[in-house]
Amino acid sequence: MGHAEFTLRDQLQPRRISLDEYWMPFTPNRDFKSDPKMVVRAEGMYYWNDRGEKLIDASSGLFCVNAGHGRKEIADAVHRQLLELDFIAPFLRAHPKSFELAGRIAELTPGDLNRIFFVNSGSEAVDTAMKVALAYHQARGQGGRNMFVSRERAYHGVNFGGVALSGIVNNRRKFGPGVPGVAHMRHTHLKENYFTQGEAAQGAELADDLQRFVTLYGAENIAACFIEPIAGSTGCLVPPKGYLKRVREICDQHGILLVFDEVICGFGRTGKAFAAQSFGVTPDVMTMAKGLTNGAQPMGAVAISERIHDTIVAAAQDGAIEFFHGYTYSGHPAPCAAGLATLDIYRNEGLFERGAALSPYFLDGLWSLKDLPAVADLRGYGMLAAIEVHPAGGPGARGHLLQKKLFDSGLHLKTTGDSALVAPPLIAEKAHIDSMVDILRKTLAAI
Ligand code: PLP
Repeated sequence: MGHAEFTLRDQLQPRRISLDEYWMPFTPNRDFKSDPKMVVRAEGMYYWNDRGEKLIDASSGLFCVNAGHGRKEIADAVHRQLLELDFIAPFLRAHPKSFELAGRIAELTPGDLNRIFFVNSGSEAVDTAMKVALAYHQARGQGGRNMFVSRERAYHGVNFGGVALSGIVNNRRKFGPGVPGVAHMRHTHLKENYFTQGEAAQGAELADDLQRFVTLYGAENIAACFIEPIAGSTGCLVPPKGYLKRVREICDQHGILLVFDEVICGFGRTGKAFAAQSFGVTPDVMTMAKGLTNGAQPMGAVAISERIHDTIVAAAQDGAIEFFHGYTYSGHPAPCAAGLATLDIYRNEGLFERGAALSPYFLDGLWSLKDLPAVADLRGYGMLAAIEVHPAGGPGARGHLLQKKLFDSGLHLKTTGDSALVAPPLIAEKAHIDSMVDILRKTLAAI
């Protein structure tokens, strides 16, 4: 690979920076470095590139920045926290804000998902949830339950547990056999449901794949079923009507834990705090990250049912560590401060309700693109939607081109394969939606 350099122009004195050393994640590095998309500032609904051009943020960064960019309350809280207490070991020591934030999250979670384990990312939340499931079954004398069920097209992060659950081939194919014992249900993207807004009518019976695994492998071997309520990273697959309820019923019948991976869906994306509440189905364990700190600090969390937590704790001897798991930065003071400030903003500004109210306008705006020849499908729920384009030049090539052209036309969003994911910050006004749709229309017409 040759040398790449870039002249950063956001200074009085432009400066050359080498692009060689930083190996970018989930990026075609050679392509990026030949045409860098550099972002230097953000505020509210907007980014600015190094040429001083403004871009509207149509993906909340990466589904994180639900309260909009540059929130002073969060920045000040982190600043104050780092000066007051920058770090304390999270093992055998603690600081008050980790307890306060856990309490605030528990107020938002459904049912008795009131025990909160802190991690640093969505990927760590998923692997932690897998360990919780295994430890729970061991604690209740069912240690044979160590298989997991997931779905085709699922994305559960990039650690080995999450990769094993993953249903996206590119995330698996170079990394060997990984964690064994994962069975994948079929995904729910059905031709009959193309262009449906919200939950589609067809497909609830796909939940019965779980029942088939029970018949094939034996329920006594299955620990948990992992589901993204809306499969996000694969391109916004909204669950068919009744699908999640059916999965819940099968889990209940067979003692299988239901884990909702709410890393994208959480914190207002679906109009409620969590998609579990939007769809009226309560899981046993729930993962979250991204919107927890408005993207301002890395943090994830796992919300665990009191019943599961208590079973694991009660199985350990008095004085013993109950769960041999945790990270140096679990519940770090800075992201805890950011999380508390973020949850204050969500509550004080009613942002979950605001997203719910804006959703019909947002979805209708996107559906106005339906007749463009490039558009193959539209899917959406709440403030999360996908525009899938007909492939051209190989799978994903047109989606990638779309993403680059949108950036050059003043709109940032995330594409995945040939789908563009649209998920504006929940502070968006109708006028912001209008300008997103306008840029999307012109760019989709031109590719
Ligand atoms: N789970 C889901 C459903 C996700 O969408 C993501 C990331 O998009 C992850 C897990 C992984 O999160 P992270 O990138 O913070 O590790």
